[in-house]
Amino acid sequence: MYQSHEYYLRKAIEISKESRESGNTPFGALLVNKEGDIIMEQPNIEITEKICTGHAEATLAARASHEYSKEFLWDCTLYTTAEPCAMCAGAIYWANIGRVVYGMTERRLLQLTGSHEQNPTFDLPCRDVFARGQKDIQVIGPVEEVEVEAAKVHEGYWD
Ligand SMILES: [Zn+2]
Repeated sequence: MYQSHEYYLRKAIEISKESRESGNTPFGALLVNKEGDIIMEQPNIEITEKICTGHAEATLAARASHEYSKEFLWDCTLYTTAEPCAMCAGAIYWANIGRVVYGMTERRLLQLTGSHEQNPTFDLPCRDVFARGQKDIQVIGPVEEVEVEAAKVHEGYWD
């Protein structure tokens, strides 16, 4: 049964906490099929794996495209704690994931990270990236109910 967006985003927030605890930046993403099952979870892996493109969403998109067809992924939703950056939006586009739901905006994240060396955050809404492509990827976010919780995991991290 398909749960609420808040339900999946709270699961993604749990992943972002685990990511931080394991020495990575506090981001988490997960993939839900059209029946509402969580079929993949992904923390950030930039730091411990030393992969500069290892954002949670781009890594999940790469893994998902390895395991599932583009047709299947079009009916899936990627949930992420923070709005996907330009690179991750590109990865979601190429993986053919049909819908994205995020907790807090990239602009809010930028306020948290500032110009931090590890995360010099873009200021480019993922809707703008998708709008320049050729697919009608649906975007939902920010989700007000969880925005504060998503930001809270970043507290003290970027200071
Ligand atoms: Zn990214």
